This record gives sequence, C-alpha cells and structure tokens, in this order.
Amino acid sequence: SRAGLSPVLYAGPTPGGQLTETSVVENFPGYPEGVAGPRMMEDLRRQAERFGAAVRSGEVTEVALGSRPFRASIDGGAHEIEADSMIVATGATARYLGLPSERRFAGMGVSACAVCDGFFYRGRDVAVVGGGDSACEEALHLSTICRHVWLVVRKPFLRASAHMRRRVEQTPNIEILYGHTTDEILGGEGGVTGVRLRSSDGAGRTLAIEGFFLGIGHTPRTAVFGDQLLLDAAGYIVTRGGVAGGDCSGGDALFGPGATATSVAGVFAAGDVADPIYQQAVTAAGSGCRAALDCERFLNDD
Ligand code: NDP
Repeated sequence: SRAGLSPVLYAGPTPGGQLTETSVVENFPGYPEGVAGPRMMEDLRRQAERFGAAVRSGEVTEVALGSRPFRASIDGGAHEIEADSMIVATGATARYLGLPSERRFAGMGVSACAVCDGFFYRGRDVAVVGGGDSACEEALHLSTICRHVWLVVRKPFLRASAHMRRRVEQTPNIEILYGHTTDEILGGEGGVTGVRLRSSDGAGRTLAIEGFFLGIGHTPRTAVFGDQLLLDAAGYIVTRGGVAGGDCSGGDALFGPGATATSVAGVFAAGDVADPIYQQAVTAAGSGCRAALDCERFLNDD
C-alpha cells in the first residue's frame, strides 16, 4: 500500500492465523511486556488498513497461476479476483497423530490448542504429546490451569530449546514421560477419560486424564497451490532464497539470499508456509516485508 500498489488480502478460514490461538507473544520486538496474540494480529490488520490494504474475509479455494494476470477463486467460486502478482502467506496447521479416537473425541477432550481449550480443564489432569517447543509451550500453559500435566515424548529427550526444556523441567506439576507413544485415547459419551501409552520396551500404561493435547508440529497449508508451485518433500513452498540458500551472483535481488520468489515468476511466498525452520512471528513478519519488496520490484520491472 505504501508503495502505491493496491493489495487485497483474503484472511482465510482463521483470520489472523495461528497467532490468534496463542496466549502471550514475548519474542516480537516492540512489546517489552509481551502482547496477546489476537491483540497483535488486530494491530497488524489495522496498521495495514491504515495505508489502504483491503482486508477481506473469504478463503482462496482455487488459483490459476499459468499466465498473468493470476486468478484466484474465493469460497468455492463465489467470486474471483485477478492479480498482477501474488504473495502466498497461508501459514501452517497443527498435526494430529492419525488415531481414530482422536477424531471421535475432537472437541470432547482432544485439542491441538492449549491456549484455546485449556480453560475447560481447570483443575483436571491432562496430557500433551510432543517433544518440541510447541509441546513445551502447551504444557507450560496448561500447568497454570490444570492439576497435573503429563508430557508424552516418544524419544528419550526433548528436542525443544534449552530455555523451554529448563522451564518444563522446573515446573512441579509437569511430569515428562520419555520413550512413550500413544496407542489410543480412551473415553465415552462424556468425553476423554484416559490415554493408553506404550513405552519403548513394549510395556503398556494407562493415564487417567480428561484432556489430550497435540503438540507435534504443523503442516504447511499448500493444498491449493501444490500442483502449480514447487514444494519441498514436507510440502513447504520452495523460495529462491529459502533455506537451501540463494544465489545473487547474477546481481538480481529476486534470486538472492532471502529472496521470496517461488517457481512461478510473480508469485512470492512468506511466513510459515515457506519456512520449515524458524516459524516465529518475527521471522514471518520479516519474510513478509521481503515478499512485499520483491513483489514491488517485480511489478516495477514488469
Ligand atoms: P517440531 O517439529 O520441532 O517438534 C515436533 C515434536 O513432535 C517432536 O518432538 C517430534 O518427535 C514430535 N512428534 C512428531 N510426530 C509425532 C508422533 N506421531 N508421535 C509422537 N510425537 C511426535 O515442532 P514444533 O511445533 O514444536 O516447533 C516447530 C518450530 O517452531 C521450531 O523451530 C520451534 O523452535 C518453533 N517454535 C517456537 C516457539 C517459541 O519460541 N515460543 C513455540 C513453538 C514453536 P521427535 O523429536 O521424535 O521427532
């Protein structure tokens, strides 16, 4: 908007994205006291709108990137939009284990968002599965609400950052179960009552819990673009200056380190959808800035 272009942003099925499902964001610059995720996303929306960006509700359900102008179909064809350039910033969604009982108890004790649903388990016993930063963050959040939090980790160690590991280990009502996988979530009409685990030596164990939280990572939201943009093996959009490293030896910034250009000229990618590694609000915001500059440069050179 500030470059005099006319950006239109479709907010998708979860406007504001994953940050609307988090509690306090403490590692985004400019907020010395931290900021609530939903509040930060509201601020970002208002800031974009102040300069004229059109933020619309609706989900892009189909794109045609074979020729320009690109076309995007919104809400299953309810309407269409044409664009000279496109930035994909569709983020990622939480992963599930794939157990039938997970589906059966979805919303009845099974959740992938401790911040959204932890409140319902006040004073109860719950389990979190996963060994990364997401799982630790969920366990820490739940430890302030719940009576006891089991952290179920399939490896003999946590892969989370040292700071997170320390915090989890020092929280008295979090108990870590290393070397355990989940066989089944147990329950009945009233919801989850327990979880059956298996340890690495084959022994079974059942925990009595009322809430089961997933913290096993995320899947990039690239289904709509999969057949038209180059993706990596995990489904993340490959960008010219992505983790594989850029090459600006030709002097063209659109191909340099950090460049957000995708395999289709004029389409750029920013945030978690193109970042399997850092996945932080601040790194996503930084790549969004790079995508906007790359997009502007592309249109100016057009
Ligand atoms: P990660 O991929 O880092 O961790 C996923 C965890 O889930 C691993 O411990 C993995 O186990 C486990 N897991 C995966 N599949 C299964 C399964 N089927 N059964 C049991 N366990 C499973 O994902 P995160 O979402 O935790 O983190 C992603 C990125 O986001 C990281 O870079 C992280 O640092 C960052 N992040 C930072 C935060 C912060 O700074 N506040 C908060 C959240 C995320 P295994 O180790 O065996 O593979």
